[in-house]
Amino acid sequence: MAFKQLSEMVDLVEVKQVSVLAKEAKALKDKRDQELENIIKGVDRRFLLLIGPCSAHDEEAVIEYAHRLARLQKKVADKIFMVPRVYTNKPRTNGDGYKGLLHQPDLTSGSNLLNGILAVRKLHNRVITETGLTTADEMLYPENLGIVDDLVSYIAVGARSVEDQQHRFVASGIDQPTGLKNPTNGNLNIMFNALYAAQQKQEFLFNAQHVESSSNPLAHVILRGLLNEYGDNRPNYYYEDLLKTISMYEEGNFKNPMIVIDTNHDNSGKQYLEQVRIVKQTLINRHWNEKVAQFVRGFMIESFLEDGRQDSEGKIFGKSITDPCLGWEKTEKLVNYIYENI
Ligand code: PEP
Ligand code: MN
Repeated sequence: MAFKQLSEMVDLVEVKQVSVLAKEAKALKDKRDQELENIIKGVDRRFLLLIGPCSAHDEEAVIEYAHRLARLQKKVADKIFMVPRVYTNKPRTNGDGYKGLLHQPDLTSGSNLLNGILAVRKLHNRVITETGLTTADEMLYPENLGIVDDLVSYIAVGARSVEDQQHRFVASGIDQPTGLKNPTNGNLNIMFNALYAAQQKQEFLFNAQHVESSSNPLAHVILRGLLNEYGDNRPNYYYEDLLKTISMYEEGNFKNPMIVIDTNHDNSGKQYLEQVRIVKQTLINRHWNEKVAQFVRGFMIESFLEDGRQDSEGKIFGKSITDPCLGWEKTEKLVNYIYENI
């Protein structure tokens, strides 16, 4: 095989001994996981915000951000439930560029995946332990799920992965709520086929074992906009898009129907300030139509300490090195707006 071995075999059971949650943090996580499950099931009527930087490239900046979010969470706790994005793996459109904390835990040197594993676990653990919030990450590589599955409260399957059978089957065995994005071309059938697969039990080979998955009734969809055949981005958070998505949900007879609107990516065309307008427009659509309110129960918002983005050296503290994010002041305003207008 043409793979040069760069490390010893990684034992995921051993990996889980690193940055284990202490008893108190584990109890807090269990409680939050139960609350989140009730939100996905619609038993708890609070609105979900999956919110935070596109990529968690700097441990201290993410911790500072999560502290601020935790303070804000307290003020809006009766209507809003926030899960910080701690995204440690970044999909790249053509494979080039920064691939996340897992690949490059130290921005000043090259890739180091073994240190990356430790950095990823440490960061999720620190956010939970120090801020009391529990985290979301993306399952970019299904075989790496075991690195974080005891630490995270939410998993997303990205636009570039959602058509892949392994992602779908592994999603069907995830205990946490799992958001399945529409693919980059915007095809909603592909997204709902992924949802169908994730909500069934599946039998397959995983980590060299014959397994059967539990099925994931907490899997749901995320609308993130699309790129058309000419490479132009198109939104899919409009009123008509929501009605179409709702009708597909109803035809498919899915469990725990829920739509999350991703306000950045191809919905904003990465014009990150537009996230504010997209949130406001979606809230109007929810007020206009009860069914829309019943289905659209979450936003994914890209937000960090500073507005915008910077080059991948990441010299400015709390500024994204991948997709541009809404800075803290605007984020706080937006969360308060959601609180007042939901
Ligand atoms: C992201 O959430 O940062 C991301 C990469 O999303 P998508 O898969 O929608 O491009
Ligand atoms: Mn992003």
